[in-house]
Amino acid sequence: MGLKFFNTLSRSVQEFVPLDPAGKRVGMYCCGPTVYDFAHIGNWRTFVFGDLVRRFLEFKGYSVQHVMNITDVEDKIIKRVHETKTSLREFTGQYEAAFFEDLTTLNCAMPHQTPRASEYIPAIISLIEKLIVRGLAYKTADGSVYFSIEKYRGCGCQYGQLVKLNFDEMRAGERVKNDEYAKESLADFALWKSRVPEDGAVFWSSPWGEGRPGWHIECSAMSMKLLGPSFDLHLGGEDLMFPHHEDEIAQSEGAALQRDGQRFVKYWLHGAFLLVEGRKMSKSLGNFFTLRDLLAKGFTGREIRYLLLTAHYRETFNFTLEGLQGARTALARVDECLTKLREVAGVEVKLVNKTRLEEEDSRLVTAFTAKLDDDLNVAGGWGVIFEWVRDTNRRLNDYTLTPETAEAAIKAWTKIDSVLGIADQNQIEIPAEIVALLEDRQAARKARDFKRADAIRDELKAKGWVIEDTPKGPKLKKL
Ligand code: AMP
Ligand code: ZN
Repeated sequence: MGLKFFNTLSRSVQEFVPLDPAGKRVGMYCCGPTVYDFAHIGNWRTFVFGDLVRRFLEFKGYSVQHVMNITDVEDKIIKRVHETKTSLREFTGQYEAAFFEDLTTLNCAMPHQTPRASEYIPAIISLIEKLIVRGLAYKTADGSVYFSIEKYRGCGCQYGQLVKLNFDEMRAGERVKNDEYAKESLADFALWKSRVPEDGAVFWSSPWGEGRPGWHIECSAMSMKLLGPSFDLHLGGEDLMFPHHEDEIAQSEGAALQRDGQRFVKYWLHGAFLLVEGRKMSKSLGNFFTLRDLLAKGFTGREIRYLLLTAHYRETFNFTLEGLQGARTALARVDECLTKLREVAGVEVKLVNKTRLEEEDSRLVTAFTAKLDDDLNVAGGWGVIFEWVRDTNRRLNDYTLTPETAEAAIKAWTKIDSVLGIADQNQIEIPAEIVALLEDRQAARKARDFKRADAIRDELKAKGWVIEDTPKGPKLKKL
């Protein structure tokens, strides 16, 4: 059975078939952070979901190009830049750096490209120009440019593909905000916003005068520039479906850069929201947590990642501090089982020396894969894992595991952890150089060259590792 995703575009679960005729390369764009503050735990649910999609695609053998933009030009940012009297770069730089730090804390794979909107202004301008040429965008007297929904629909294009829209309702009592007074219709959205005094130094020149891009066009321009006019996957939280992603489709397909019969994006994936203690996060309710707030409470990135990965991405998830305690207990169960498996397997170092590991415990890998193939049923995946932990513990207690089967089990776990990314880094990361030294020492001992074996032991010690020779073979421990 192949991989299937729920595609918001078709509102159905569909088999994943990449655009690449060779079926190998996959282009994936995740709407990234707006860098005006530290990302909160809800944002992190969505980013960790993106990481899961990428890791699972790689696990399935696809070669993924993962792009995540940094929104560094946007209304909230400009307001804060104005208030804090800083420069745009200085202001956004601190939150961008924090974002990447947090991404590492949560063990998310670094996206291959992280374009900043502020560095894609020429691409944005050129896309707006195309829309004007095609008659889908219009300039207003103040030098702003809007996308015309009516003209777009007039060309036979559908506005309201990801969500059902009621145009009569949208037009009712058409009263436009005063900063957008020049719009022809309430539904129209800004592609280019003309400069106002509060923008301070945040403006660029354009064929329509000084100003800055609207948020939606930034993502259309950056995604198509880096992934081409048609690509496989576009991800974000469910709140982005409308208007952000709907507008991205209108702009990108309105510019008609796609080849005949191809869409801007083939599969749209949206992650459900995270609630905290059953409610929408808000500072006044005291349930607003950034990742850093949780780290300060003594939780680890690993525990937080685990908890964010327990529920299906399309289900609203209720985040609680109790749940984080539960994550700690669950991880301890996995760790304990793996520690015991390593003891049985003998040479702890074999964990990282993948070539020496033979057959995998394919039952675990197959069952886990089947769950995730089914629209990333990660909750089902955990069910498989904990059943495996139970079964393995039973076999450990019965002494029915041989070193070989223990090794195979560890290898199977390592393989599925390439998707989950929750392994205890302290347990698995023995540097290759240290592994090589241990192997040299084993070879020296076999050749009865004890002088050399002892010299290697000392060298390892100097590098912070001690060898414990056990009846089951040597073990490495960090000093
Ligand atoms: P922002 O930094 O506001 O642009 O949001 C970054 C990402 O976080 C977007 O994909 C949002 O959809 C997502 N997001 C925002 N709030 C939540 C939440 N409470 N739960 C899950 N995702 C969220
Ligand atoms: Zn976006």
